[in-house]
Amino acid sequence: MQSLLLPPGGHKLPALPYPYSALEPVISATTLRFHHDNHHKSYVEGLNKAELKLVEARQKKDFSLIKHWERELAFHGSGHILHSIYWTIMAPPGNCGQPGPLTQRLINSYFGSIPLFQEQFTQAANNVEASGWAILVWQPAWCRLELLNAEKHQDLTQWGSMPILVLDVWEHAYYLDYQYRRADYTKSWWNIVNWFEVEKRLSLALQGKMPLIS
Ligand code: MN
Repeated sequence: MQSLLLPPGGHKLPALPYPYSALEPVISATTLRFHHDNHHKSYVEGLNKAELKLVEARQKKDFSLIKHWERELAFHGSGHILHSIYWTIMAPPGNCGQPGPLTQRLINSYFGSIPLFQEQFTQAANNVEASGWAILVWQPAWCRLELLNAEKHQDLTQWGSMPILVLDVWEHAYYLDYQYRRADYTKSWWNIVNWFEVEKRLSLALQGKMPLIS
């Protein structure tokens, strides 16, 4: 277990839990490699930089650029968290299981049924303006699930919500494989949703816990 106090600038790019080709044919090895090794890495670096620049600002008592670094902190921090989750809630086709008992109960009680939930989730993803995510969250303040449609990584979110299932619809996530056909990507993506991991995340969220991210 990592230290409870992650030092400023101490974030690390997590390793992918499977080989680059593991999610084919839904996501190609090339897309996965660029997405993880380049895009996600740049969010980790941007987050570390923002944190270290804010340490420097405190030391120098110079907060003239605070607006800029706070924005960087929100953008890159949210990007790092969402990508770290995105890798783990996917698995090779055929190793994904089915929605677990807790997942089924909580989704059915709020969204009506799994197919209705999937339809709303897919539509939310398809209709993200430009870059962003569809995100199923556990909202502990209300003790129920909610479905959000985040722009970039950090806009249109709800405070305190815990991300359970996240779908990246930035063009870098699908354009090499699907070009402009985002709806084909969001439809195929259901074949690589790791329902075991979704169940695990939900069960932890109900205890007020979220798996740690470095
Ligand atoms: Mn991405």
